[in-house]
Amino acid sequence: MNIEVFSDSIRARSAILHSSGWPAAGGLVERTINELKTALSCKKAAVWGLDHYWRIDAYRPHVQVRNGQIKSLEWPEFAFFECSRPSGEPFLIGSGPEPASFWGAFSVELLRQLKAWGCHEVFLLGSMLDEVLHDETIVSCIVQDERGWNMAVEAGCELTDYEGPAAIHSAVMQAAESEGVRCLSLWAHLPFYLNEPSELVAAHFLRTVGRMLGFKPNVSHLVAAWKERRARIESSIEENGELSQTLEAMKQRKREPWPEHRPAAKIVRMEEYLRRRHDHAPHLEPEDDEGEEAQEMNKLTPEQESIFNYTIDHFKEVSRQNRFPENNIIDHDESRCAVCHPELVPIEPFVIYLEVVTQAVKMRRPSVDDDFVEMMNSDLAAMGEETRVSRESLLAGEEEAVEAWKEWARDALATGLGLLSIHGPEKRAFDLDDAEDEGMGELIESKIGEVMAAQKKNSL
Ligand SMILES: [Zn+2]
Repeated sequence: MNIEVFSDSIRARSAILHSSGWPAAGGLVERTINELKTALSCKKAAVWGLDHYWRIDAYRPHVQVRNGQIKSLEWPEFAFFECSRPSGEPFLIGSGPEPASFWGAFSVELLRQLKAWGCHEVFLLGSMLDEVLHDETIVSCIVQDERGWNMAVEAGCELTDYEGPAAIHSAVMQAAESEGVRCLSLWAHLPFYLNEPSELVAAHFLRTVGRMLGFKPNVSHLVAAWKERRARIESSIEENGELSQTLEAMKQRKREPWPEHRPAAKIVRMEEYLRRRHDHAPHLEPEDDEGEEAQEMNKLTPEQESIFNYTIDHFKEVSRQNRFPENNIIDHDESRCAVCHPELVPIEPFVIYLEVVTQAVKMRRPSVDDDFVEMMNSDLAAMGEETRVSRESLLAGEEEAVEAWKEWARDALATGLGLLSIHGPEKRAFDLDDAEDEGMGELIESKIGEVMAAQKKNSL
């Protein structure tokens, strides 16, 4: 291997890899990698000359000529950066052009080098244009073992269904499997009709990658930039009759039975998008326990109310039995399940899902007992936090303890939403951060408060 190493001793358990070209449509992966490099301290650790893995017809070296003399000639290379996480061990970022030949040999060489540096876990980042709308955030994932599957589900990723041309990622995944390295391939889905990068998807992708690596990147600048861009996109769609028709056709195809309309398609949630756009009903702010759902409930027919209650009771029972992670295989009346069929009740799907998860968390963790305190402290230790809590500090409302408690409740809801994304025919994945960006912040805060208040009440 023709590799030049700049660091004394490269050691990292995880690596993020990226190949430019075909597997990185829309510039999204480059953007994500650049955001990571800006947010964390990263230094170039090694460079791998790609030798016979590139071909002149696929990639030309970059030359710089000044005053009739060659100043520099850049050969294709795969560069590795060593990055520090806010807490925890460093990880590697590796990027270069997608090789033009000998994918098998390239992948094995790459994996063996990563292993030599101590890597046990590799995340491949890719982006593709797809039939998704500009305010959808979808990351799909290819996994190869149970732990990878759990990580993908907890991070709110969809499991990929795809048939078509392969990227280098598939070859790297195969090599990783035979080398005993866990490998997840993450794909951000971009709306095919945008020719500008989407900050919304970039923010979501960055958070997903952060979650896999155990830190929370700051994405507020991306969200702010997106708010401006979104208004421009929507007015240009309105002005463009052809595009409006195309989007309408996407909506039609969604109604056709799965999977005929498109074997590798995403589910396009056009109805939701149209409802959000055209029906700007104000979100009712919960005032007390008789909050949002209670007000939503007032609009339900007795049949809808009974379906809603059946759904909540079903998932509470699943949670009581501690079987939430396998909620997709538990027998229930699917025709009366509002998670399987959100269209059965006139409540936004996110609100249904959040309510189900809130009641499930309250069932699973009803009070502040020794178990709960021990679990919180081991979570805090795992996150590299120095704070520790006790039953007394929580119930007395000490500031630091309450902050940690809130954080725990939020994570519990986020994990619940991730686990719920395997349920039913729709398998919807909701992300708290994304929902916040879409104006659900107050509802989420109230649900976090509801979980904590219930736990407190049961502990006094
Ligand atoms: Zn169901």
